[in-house]
Amino acid sequence: MIEEQNHPDASALAPRDTQVALFRGARQKCPACGDGSLFYAYLKVNDACPSCGEELHHHRADDAPPYFTMLITGHIVVGLMLSAAMYRDWPDWVHMTLWPTMVIVMSLWLLPRVKGALVGLQWALRMHGFSGRPDEIEIAPGSDLPRG
Ligand SMILES: [Zn+2]
Repeated sequence: MIEEQNHPDASALAPRDTQVALFRGARQKCPACGDGSLFYAYLKVNDACPSCGEELHHHRADDAPPYFTMLITGHIVVGLMLSAAMYRDWPDWVHMTLWPTMVIVMSLWLLPRVKGALVGLQWALRMHGFSGRPDEIEIAPGSDLPRG
């Protein structure tokens, strides 16, 4: 938001609906048109939307999708595990089979949806290159790299 306010053409940038972009991303569709596929492989984001041509390579999801996937999966599975331990008398083999399987299946199912939602969020908030201008490179203080 700060970047957008400082952008010289900020008034020319049309507002983007964050909720719609999040929802489209979670459906693994382009946040701009909701039609083209966001991914060309399991977690590989298309450089551009195959339907509308919107550039998608600017995303920087990085470690956020696995973080949120683990957060969601952990809260659900641990809650169910504790409930089962308190209210059910299942044999150990059931616990040793059920919970790891549930974690793996939920994580693999959630990960592309969470990543899609985060790419959609970045697009809607015009983060990184989605603002129409390149990101500024931050150089650590004391670095010998040239500043420019
Ligand atoms: Zn599109």
